[in-house]
Parts: sequence; C-alpha cells; structure tokens
Amino acid sequence: MVARILDGKALSARLRARVRQRAEAIAQHGLQPGLAVVLVGENPASQLYVNNKVRACVESGVRSLRYNLPRQTSETELLALICRLNADEQVHGILVQLPLPDHIDVRRVLETIAIEKDVDGFHAQNVGHLTLGHPRLPSCTPAGVMALLDDAGIDPAGKNAVVIGASNIVGKPMALMLLSRGATVTVCHAQTRDLTQHTVLADIVVVAAGCPKLVQKQMIQSGAVIVDVGINRLPDGSIVGDVDFDQVKTKAGWISPVPGGVGPMTVTMLMENTLRAAEYHQSARLAE
Ligand code: NAD
Repeated sequence: MVARILDGKALSARLRARVRQRAEAIAQHGLQPGLAVVLVGENPASQLYVNNKVRACVESGVRSLRYNLPRQTSETELLALICRLNADEQVHGILVQLPLPDHIDVRRVLETIAIEKDVDGFHAQNVGHLTLGHPRLPSCTPAGVMALLDDAGIDPAGKNAVVIGASNIVGKPMALMLLSRGATVTVCHAQTRDLTQHTVLADIVVVAAGCPKLVQKQMIQSGAVIVDVGINRLPDGSIVGDVDFDQVKTKAGWISPVPGGVGPMTVTMLMENTLRAAEYHQSARLAE
C-alpha cells in the first residue's frame, strides 16, 4: 500500500480563495478584515512564520499590520501595544508570535488580547468554549488538521485516535476537537511509557512532539491515517516532521507531508479566524 497524501498546500489554496471571496463581500460594507502580527525579537524561525502569515494575508484579502519589536521590549510596553490594538476598530485579529523572550510572561500577554480578537484561539476563554464544544475562534493548528481530515472524507466518529503531544497550543486542543467529533481519544506525551502500545490500535494518529522520526512503520496499523504536525530543522538545514515519512507511507492509508501538510493549513485557519472575527465585529455593529 502507498498512502494517499493529505495535501495541505492544495487545500490551503482553495480555502484562501474562499476567504478572499468572503472578505470581498464584507468589503462592500466598508470593512476589510485586519490582522495585527506582533513579533518580539529576531528569532529566524519566528521571522519566517511571520513572513508566511503576512503573505497569506495578501492572498486572502486580509489587511496585515506588522509590528517588529526589539528583543529588549519590556512586558509593560508589549501589553500597552496589545491594549491599543484591542481598541483599534480596524484590527479584528491580534497574533503575538511565540515564543516570546524569557522576561515576558506569555500567559499574561495571551490573556490581555481581547477574546473577540484572539485569532490564535489561545485565550483561556476561547479554550473554555472549545472544551464545552462550541468554539468561536478555534486554535489554528488543530483546526487545520480537522479541515484536512474533513476534506479527505475521514470522519473521526467512532475511530480510535491517538494524539502524541499534550501542549496547550497543539496536543490538548487537538484531542478536544477529535473528541467533540466522536473519536475515542488517547493523549500520549513525553512520560508515556510505551507509545507503540497506543499507536498500534489507532485509526488516526496525530503527532506534535517535535522529534524527528518518532513515528515508525512498525508502530502503526495498516491503513491508518497519519497526520504529522512536527516541524524540525535538521543540521543540514532541511525541514522534517515527526514521522519517518518514507517508511510510514508504505503502510499508512493517508499521510500528511512536511512541509506541505499541516503547516500551510495552520496559516489558512488563521486567515479564516480573522475573517470570522471581522464578521462577528460587523454583525455586532449592525445590531447596535
Ligand atoms: P511542545 O514542546 O510545547 O510540546 C511537545 C509535546 O510533545 C509535549 O507534550 C511533550 O510531552 C510531547 N513529547 C515530546 N517528546 C515526546 C516523545 N518522545 N514521545 C511522546 N511525546 C513527546 O511543542 P508544540 O508547541 O506542541 O509543538 C510540537 C511540534 O509541532 C513542534 O515540532 C512544533 O514545531 C510543531 N508545530 C507545528 C505547527 C504547524 O503549523 N505545523 C504549529 C505548532 C507547532
């Protein structure tokens, strides 16, 4: 068997074109969705991610406002910027690129973003909505994984799903989304004693651990759906995921590549959330 590809690049292109159409429709009412992207410091990976997001805004008809702050920016200065953006009617989404320098309290920053502009879906209230099964602005990476599954016609209902990785930004919301769609979900993490014991029973494996080649062919069942969220830079500069792609693709039913799988979908979901936030803003304005 050779696995079919969960092509995030192709699906992203289609979804961004749809976001653009909806953005053009609300532009008729004098409103252009606006995303503020805030970067603190000069981390090269973060700069690359921010560039990708700004490029996606252009493709999707979203206005981007980019704030590049020096590494030594204080927490007070960053919070003041966020408060200004919260009050700015032209800004519908605020994204603060993570990680932040150590002297800044990430939680305080994320909780300062107005909930209706939290397009990353990291605010505790947005996480609460997701937990209760009615997300308003779902976190982008797991939402991108769900969109990939839906597009391929893979229904999680009744399936065994294993999520490897339990971070607040990927693993936990991923598990909640799969659960809300009827999967039986197991969450594995660095302290899980025997990963294979769980993965061999899985119809769907989503891995977000940050470990190259963590998922091997002998760990999965034949025909399983394998979604690779990992992004790892090897010493030779190449980018790989968490799955031993060449081996696993000979046994899996579906597999997402890295790059070109979940990565572009994350950015596309950010565009969708910004549009959604602008649409909420518009309907609130019309209701006034
Ligand atoms: P994180 O470091 O916050 O969390 C990693 C999780 O994986 C932890 O729960 C840890 O316990 C678990 N883990 C680590 N090693 C493990 C192992 N050997 N076995 C089982 N579990 C293990 O990382 P994160 O922010 O959740 O990101 C995870 C990966 O996903 C990284 O490679 C990151 O670059 C990537 N990522 C990709 C996207 C995207 O858009 N494709 C978005 C966010 C993160």
